[in-house]
Amino acid sequence: MERMNPVKLENVNCEICGKRETTILFKARDYCHELPGEFNVSRCSNCGLAYLNPRPTKEGMEVYYPEGYAPHKRMGGVGDIRFQQRLLGFFIKFHGGELRTLWRLKPGKILDVGCGGGMYLKALKERGWTVYGVDASAVATQRARALGLNNIFTGELHEARHPDNLFDAILMRHSLEHMPHPSETLAEVHRILRPGGAVLIVAPNFQSTEARLFKQHWYQIDAPRHFYFLEHSTIRNLLHKHNFRITTYSFSSRPFSSFVKSITYGTTSKVIKRLLDNTISYIISHVIFWPWHRDTSMVVLAKK
Ligand SMILES: [Zn+2]
Repeated sequence: MERMNPVKLENVNCEICGKRETTILFKARDYCHELPGEFNVSRCSNCGLAYLNPRPTKEGMEVYYPEGYAPHKRMGGVGDIRFQQRLLGFFIKFHGGELRTLWRLKPGKILDVGCGGGMYLKALKERGWTVYGVDASAVATQRARALGLNNIFTGELHEARHPDNLFDAILMRHSLEHMPHPSETLAEVHRILRPGGAVLIVAPNFQSTEARLFKQHWYQIDAPRHFYFLEHSTIRNLLHKHNFRITTYSFSSRPFSSFVKSITYGTTSKVIKRLLDNTISYIISHVIFWPWHRDTSMVVLAKK
């Protein structure tokens, strides 16, 4: 066991109901960076929340966010990441992608929790929003500031100590599932959001066709970086717990197909991996496999 899990693990109670009993759905590994360790994707026996249990401690998690972790990566490198980010930048600017829900709101103050390199904040700023960002990664926040964004805080959300009712909207794009205590985070989001303000959550959909097809090899399991595997009922319960009201619930697919990534995670063939794991394959598969990955992420807009 020591050999399988090189870092210290801790058992955690359910974030929604506080109970401890879980059943194991399957065991997952870090297929992204191929770091050692095996982790239980478990389901709360009481309320059904799916989460990683046990999971690495805070200190242990440092191993699993290595230098090459894509969302924290420095810009200016060569290869796929840079090209994909440019392409994604154009897509957000002209189409809006997952942010389209926000285009219907009157621009005001918006906070991006887990803002990464600030690409989404930049698009929001160009649409007239006053933008704020928080991210625990110093590399990521440095990149965001290099885009000309001010109000970027390096650290955890509660450490930024925003005043009550400050924001008109808060964005949590693929960040909630990484948080050790999403319930506490949503309580803080509720405090700093003005009455009637909106929170937009984008997270992997554990009920999606891809999730059911690929199970432990699904790209968006991303163990052990993802602690929570949300579904319609569990995100609803989590939001209701903090007095949010869901106004729209829809889906989106990952721009760079997680379908192909999931196939490469499931195969041991180096030839198949090399053949599939590139931008051209992602684009082709995005079109061909559309029906199987259109619901891979959930897009939830909720009001305070
Ligand atoms: Zn529970």
